[in-house]
Amino acid sequence: MLWRHLAVSVVVGCLAFAAVLSAPPPSNQGVTLRWLGHACFVLQAPKVTLVFDPFPADRVGYKPIKERADIVLISHHHFDHNFVGGLKGKPKIIDTPGEHKFGAVLIVGFKTSHGDGRGSNTVFVVEVAGLRIAHCGDLGVLPSDVELKGWGRVDVLLVPVGGFYTIDADQAWQLVQRLKPAVVIPMHYGHPQSKIRELAPLDNFLKGKPVVRHLRGNSVSLNKKTLPKRTEIWVLQAP
Ligand SMILES: [Zn+2]
Repeated sequence: MLWRHLAVSVVVGCLAFAAVLSAPPPSNQGVTLRWLGHACFVLQAPKVTLVFDPFPADRVGYKPIKERADIVLISHHHFDHNFVGGLKGKPKIIDTPGEHKFGAVLIVGFKTSHGDGRGSNTVFVVEVAGLRIAHCGDLGVLPSDVELKGWGRVDVLLVPVGGFYTIDADQAWQLVQRLKPAVVIPMHYGHPQSKIRELAPLDNFLKGKPVVRHLRGNSVSLNKKTLPKRTEIWVLQAP
């Protein structure tokens, strides 16, 4: 009887050990970023969910956005970037430059230009879990060196590459070379699921680039410790 009890204990102990080995890292070590199409991302940080630039799917394409959000960041008030109607919860809306702090999350907005006659655009740099993630919104004009210095270090750059309404593929790459982020995730480009026909396809941005990784799915875990040493372009699939 004692031996059987001992054997069961050993098996249970091994299973528990295996579970520890295969468990995901504690949530305070990283964040998850999901692309919902166009310029919309969900940043899942410990205890807080941020949504960038939500859009109405009936006008923009892709799947409807029904996320629960604590904070919504809106780069500018054009219909394809400020549709908060589909979001769940009572998110706080941030749509202005300046500093905003929520627990362990620091959000700094930088005023930029959407381009000729299109008004201004806010680039948001979000600092959380030791990572600095910049969402460029509809950046239409490349910032000066002084402005760019103000953004500080950027680990992950979410950048429009489709042109027409924003900087184009070549300008987006110039921005990458100046900022030298670890990861670049392109957005706001022509896609089979997009109804905005003026946007150029993603290939215009990808062609000739050194390291391009096509990820499976629309989600990626980001951890400061495992970021690539040299800039990589990561392409997320639309949901
Ligand atoms: Zn747009």
